[in-house]
Amino acid sequence: MKAFDQIKQNNSMAINLKRRILISGASIAGPTLAFWLAKYGFTVTIVERSKSLRLGGQNLDIRGAGRAIVRMMGIEEKILAANTGEIGLQFVNRNNKIRAEFPIDGGSSFTSEAEILRGDLVNILYDCTKNDVQYVFGKYITALNQDADKVEVTFSDGKTDIFDLLIAADGVRSTTRRLIFGDEPALKFVGLYNAWYTIPRLERDTDWARWYTAPGSRVMMLRPDNYGTIRASFSFLSDDKSYVNQSDHEQKKILKEKLSGAGWEEARLIKEIDDKSDVYFDGISQVRAPRWFDGRAGMIGDAAYCPTPLTGMGTTLAMVGAYLLAGELSCHNKYEDAFLAYEKRMRPFVEKVQKLPPGVPWLAHPKSKFGVALVNTVAAILASRPIKMIGRLFNSKEQDVTKDEIELPKFG
Ligand SMILES: Cc1cc2nc3c(=O)[nH]c(=O)nc-3n(C[C@H](O)[C@H](O)[C@H](O)COP(=O)(O)OP(=O)(O)OC[C@H]3O[C@@H](n4cnc5c(N)ncnc54)[C@H](O)[C@@H]3O)c2cc1C
Repeated sequence: MKAFDQIKQNNSMAINLKRRILISGASIAGPTLAFWLAKYGFTVTIVERSKSLRLGGQNLDIRGAGRAIVRMMGIEEKILAANTGEIGLQFVNRNNKIRAEFPIDGGSSFTSEAEILRGDLVNILYDCTKNDVQYVFGKYITALNQDADKVEVTFSDGKTDIFDLLIAADGVRSTTRRLIFGDEPALKFVGLYNAWYTIPRLERDTDWARWYTAPGSRVMMLRPDNYGTIRASFSFLSDDKSYVNQSDHEQKKILKEKLSGAGWEEARLIKEIDDKSDVYFDGISQVRAPRWFDGRAGMIGDAAYCPTPLTGMGTTLAMVGAYLLAGELSCHNKYEDAFLAYEKRMRPFVEKVQKLPPGVPWLAHPKSKFGVALVNTVAAILASRPIKMIGRLFNSKEQDVTKDEIELPKFG
């Protein structure tokens, strides 16, 4: 914390103290941005559409640069303490027989060392910002108007307010993004749907994440958590883009139909869907935006450059973007210069992360029984000792680090 006290003494603070910034969205990107802006002396308000923090979702990984940022924020210990306890990933077949096993190795494995439930991370970020940032729940922005000096915002309760800057951090389906940029940013659907929800833990569950590939381009996954429950996920390929616009009831019906005949834990997942209010269902899409700022308004996190959960980098990107944007705003007098400097640093990193490897997500979601057998065989080969040793020769850990490579300057 001493470093922050020094920052507060910095002369540039005088410039920032009066700037009022509104952030839309209180998940990962929004509170991380707010944390750093508040440290640099800005006056920050976060407006969150939900009546309280949204704590649903599964494990999020914090890797590479993301890990460096949580360390600088002083919350790394809390994040490690909230570890889900997952010990690695197993590929299983229809009869729950293990076909391949990838234990946690502290580096490039599926299970990362800083594996935390999304809700726990949201809570940690809220706790470390709530005293310095004004949170407004149950409201969202319905209109905005900006000129050279200010952004005027109208909220869903009809009230208006004036800010110096507005940053949308309200996720992949951001409505604030639409108010700022209209249809300009593209939402690129990758042809995959995913549902996440929490189910009771049974005796047959273990501390391994278990991955089951079913014919019909379907994957089920069960992961242990630190609350004595199991986080279920179900994904399937489909070209139909309409499912995201359906009601909760319709979406649950679609999920049950898609699960039907999948085998393994199918009955359990179908049974639990109806009782669950925390089913998070979405079409997996990337956000591709030619620009992230328009005048005094902009966007970060999934709202600006969602890479999809397939990359495992959404949280890291959101945190890196928040850290860099706050830092650039702290050291430029003109917000336009800060936005330019931020985009110059951030865009190459986003482009690298958004490049999905060839065959993703189709290869992991085979249609036929033969394809399923092939996936399990390839997993077994990759998990075998000789192949792992060859992998180490080529240093797969290094590859992961390279993906995360972005310079994090010390601001202030
Ligand atoms: C409920 C939920 C569950 C998730 N579960 C998973 C998961 O299991 N696995 C995974 O990889 N990723 C999951 N994600 C996405 C993941 O959190 C992000 O990919 C990543 O962490 C980047 O976060 P973000 O802050 O940019 O966006 P998000 O985490 O999507 O957060 C956006 C926030 O903005 C709020 N919001 C939305 N619209 C408005 C509005 N108009 N005005 C104000 N606030 C608004 C939302 O309620 C939310 O709090 C989930 C997201 C949510 C919201």
